[in-house]
Amino acid sequence: MTRIETHKDLTRRNTFGMKVSCACFVEYDSLEDLFSLDFGELPQPVFHVGAGSNLLFTGDWPGTLLHSCIKFLRPMGLEEDEVLVEVGAGAVFDSFVEWACSRGLWGAENLSLIPGEVGAAAVQNIGAYGVEAGDIIVRVNCFDREAREMVTFENADCRYGYRTSFFKEEGKGRYIITSVLFRLSRKYNPRLEYGNIRSAFDGRQPMHPDDVRKAVSDIRKAKLPDPAETGSAGSFFKNPVISAEHFARIEEVARAESGPDVRVPHFDTPEGVKVPAAWMIERCGLKGFRLGDAAVYEKQPLVIVNLTGKAAPEDILALERKVIAAVKDKFGVELHPEVEHI
Ligand SMILES: Cc1cc2nc3c(=O)[nH]c(=O)nc-3n(C[C@H](O)[C@H](O)[C@H](O)COP(=O)(O)OP(=O)(O)OC[C@H]3O[C@@H](n4cnc5c(N)ncnc54)[C@H](O)[C@@H]3O)c2cc1C
Repeated sequence: MTRIETHKDLTRRNTFGMKVSCACFVEYDSLEDLFSLDFGELPQPVFHVGAGSNLLFTGDWPGTLLHSCIKFLRPMGLEEDEVLVEVGAGAVFDSFVEWACSRGLWGAENLSLIPGEVGAAAVQNIGAYGVEAGDIIVRVNCFDREAREMVTFENADCRYGYRTSFFKEEGKGRYIITSVLFRLSRKYNPRLEYGNIRSAFDGRQPMHPDDVRKAVSDIRKAKLPDPAETGSAGSFFKNPVISAEHFARIEEVARAESGPDVRVPHFDTPEGVKVPAAWMIERCGLKGFRLGDAAVYEKQPLVIVNLTGKAAPEDILALERKVIAAVKDKFGVELHPEVEHI
C-alpha cells in the first residue's frame, strides 16, 4: 500500500523536533508500491527520508518526502561461522541489532541504540565505538529512480568512508535503498578497542554480544540526549582531520593556556590527524552554552540540542554559526556539520 498525505506536520518525524511541514508525504510498504510511483507527478523536489535523526529541516519542505515501510528481516543462511541477514530499508536499525545480539551473533553490537532506519544506516555508514555499518554490510539493494530498475551495490561499490558513502555523494537522490544484506558471525569476536567500552569491562571479557550491547547502551544513555526527551540529531559536527603541522599549532595553543603537560586528544589516520571536535568546542568555553532555545549539550559538546523543545531552525543555525566561528578563531579549524540541512 502507498499512503499519501498533504501538508503533513513533521514535528514528530525529525528527532530535532523542528516544527516544520512538507507539501506531500508518501509512505510505501513494498517494492511494487515504489515501482508504481510516478515521481514526476509528485510535488517537487522529492527527497527520501528515514526517521529524520540526522536531518535539520531549515524550514518547511516545499515538495515531497518519501518514506519506506519495507521492514522485513530475513536470515539468508549460513556460510561456515557466518550468518547473512537481509533487512528492509524501513526497519529500525536498532531492532536489527537487538535481533542479532539476542541470537548470539557478533558484528552489530557496538552499533546499539543508534537511532534511525536500516536504509539510512547504509547511506550514512553509521558508526560508534570503533565499528561502522560498512564493516558488516555485504551488499545494498536499490531502486534506481532514473533507470526505474533495481540495482545491487557490493560493499566495495558503496565506497564507505567516515560517515559517508557513494549514496551520500555521487549517488545521492538517484538511488533509493530498499534492503541491505549484513554479515554477522557466530564466532566470538568482541570489538573492545574503543576506550570507553574497554573500561566498561574493566579487564573482564564479555561472554555474549548482549553484554556489549548493554555496556554500549549504558555509555550512550549517560552521554547522549534521549530523542524522546530532548531534541537533537546526535553529533552535529564531524571530527576534523588536519595536517600534522596544524595539529602541532593546536598543541601550542593548548600548552600556552594549560601548561606543558596538557594532552590534546587525537587519532592518527591515513588522511591526517583527527581531533575530536567536542574537545575544541569545550576548549572554546561553549560546553552547555545556550543561545535562545538551542544549546550545546552539557554532557557532550558535539551535540546541539533543542533545549526547550521550542527551538526553531534559525536558533539551531545561529548556534551552529557561533560554534564554527569560535573554533575557527581559536584553532584555525573549520568544522563541518555531520547533520544534513534540508
Ligand atoms: C541521539 C542521537 C544519537 C546518534 N548517534 C549516532 C552514532 O553514534 N553514530 C552515527 O553514525 N550516527 C548517530 N546519529 C545520527 C543518526 O542516527 C544516523 O545518521 C542515522 O543513520 C539516521 O537514520 P534516519 O533513518 O533517521 O535517516 P534520516 O536522518 O531521515 O536520513 C539520513 C540520510 O539518509 C537518506 N536516506 C534515508 N533513507 C533512505 C533510503 N531508503 N534510501 C536512500 N537514502 C535514504 C536521507 O535522504 C538522508 O540523506 C545519532 C542521532 C541521534 C538523534
